[in-house]
Amino acid sequence: MNKKSLLSLLEQPTAPYREGLVIQWIKNELNRIQVPFFQDSTGNIIMGVASEQEYRILLGQNEKEPVRVFIAHMDHPGFHGVKWKNKQTLEVKWFGGSPRKHLVGSRVWISNPAGQVYDGILSSATLDKKKTHLSKGTVKIKENCSEHKAPTLFGGFGFRKAVWEKSGIVYTKAADDLVGCFVAIETAKKAAKLQSRKFIGILTRAEEVGFVGCIAHFELGWLKTAKRPLVVVSLETSRTLPGALVGKGPVVRLGDRAGVFSGPAIEVLSQIAQKKLPKKFQKRVMDGGTCEATVAVVNQVPAVGISIPLGNYHNQGFEGGPDCRGPEGPAPEFVSLSDIKGMLVLCEELLKDDLPWEDPWSERRKQLLSYLEEGKDLLVFS
Ligand SMILES: [Zn+2]
Repeated sequence: MNKKSLLSLLEQPTAPYREGLVIQWIKNELNRIQVPFFQDSTGNIIMGVASEQEYRILLGQNEKEPVRVFIAHMDHPGFHGVKWKNKQTLEVKWFGGSPRKHLVGSRVWISNPAGQVYDGILSSATLDKKKTHLSKGTVKIKENCSEHKAPTLFGGFGFRKAVWEKSGIVYTKAADDLVGCFVAIETAKKAAKLQSRKFIGILTRAEEVGFVGCIAHFELGWLKTAKRPLVVVSLETSRTLPGALVGKGPVVRLGDRAGVFSGPAIEVLSQIAQKKLPKKFQKRVMDGGTCEATVAVVNQVPAVGISIPLGNYHNQGFEGGPDCRGPEGPAPEFVSLSDIKGMLVLCEELLKDDLPWEDPWSERRKQLLSYLEEGKDLLVFS
């Protein structure tokens, strides 16, 4: 695993609709590792093919092997500048989930589009009507950066550093879902080396505000034209839950808060996990949130998900730890490097040929028949 690359990606500032710096970083990385890519009209990055034409050709092939469509998102909850109240006070609007307590006085980072990052303090905060997340506030910025137009600035909760590592745990302003992007990129690299004709990666924009980039991609209609089977694999970092704990392995995600994913594809993924990561994976419905597999399911494309258990989901101090301002107050998200390694293994295995996508239960059926064989004499009644 290229840890340096992971940590460098996690340093990049991002927020819903303000993914420009992450996009630039990823484009440089894909050029460096020679993975073909292009951007769709929404700005989502499509990996594994160099153009819409190549995308359509891949999907149009008369081929039994499904195209694996890996999806991860490039944004994380955060704020946009709205207007300057005075030279050092910026009014902001919040996008996505957030902590709800210990907000005023907490540290934030503010970035301009060129990636220059300033330090600030949240000086006032208003929650939405249902009191589930931040809706707006004001930010006091130490340095003078009022030469920048307010709407060009964006930010999020800040901690001692954008990213740091301790004992195999990575703490960061935003693991969700830059970790998923990292794994998708590494998988794209493997697929390119294998000259696999069955990989597409979609790195989306504005997931945290309702899968906006992902929906826009489905609306292009390209996936609908597929002549061969498809399977969407959502790569997420997801709120820890009982049975889905940090450091206990990646989670075979059976569903999200919206519902369950696709039975046969889940079975294929479960068998892979059982074989390649025995006792080092977890399996459950991750209903702490929703993910882009749901967009696929709703569009009638088979989908599965893999989650990295995420501490302090959406910077809410559920688990606490270093730099947490108190229960449910701002806190760095954290993930385990070993869980990420596990997710990389599962993704690589999903690229293999001849997985039992059409009938994953044939062995299980034989086993069931053996139960019948054993019991059939006793079924006879007179
Ligand atoms: Zn996410």
